[in-house]
Amino acid sequence: MKISHIEHLGIAVKSIEEALPYYEKVLGLTCYNIETVEDQKVKTAFLKCGDTKIELLEPTSPDSTSAGFIEKRGMGIHHLAFAIEDGVANALAEAEGAGIRLIDKAPRKGAENLQIAFLHPKSTMGVLTELCEK
Ligand code: ZN
Repeated sequence: MKISHIEHLGIAVKSIEEALPYYEKVLGLTCYNIETVEDQKVKTAFLKCGDTKIELLEPTSPDSTSAGFIEKRGMGIHHLAFAIEDGVANALAEAEGAGIRLIDKAPRKGAENLQIAFLHPKSTMGVLTELCEK
């Protein structure tokens, strides 16, 4: 697969409303989009940071995977997302061929209209990895 850059860094928070003042007032970043991704049961807030972004994830339901993450590990870095130049479907096939455990067998629609898929952290040195394509 061909990675062009880090698309974003996902950070799990209990409340976007409570987290934003830190990112905006202390770090000086600007939130340009807040959106709910129904099938992932999360509300997301995106902040531009140079050529990459920070995605804050707030669970919208206690059975959301990000709620489980916060419960187990507390708020913090949740996933790393790479921008894939040659297609998420292709990258998934390659990863699977290399013996990597996939969370998503096929690309699906994520926040910001991206095609996304996740690789399982058990196969990726402990980092939940998201592959993204415009
Ligand atoms: Zn993400």
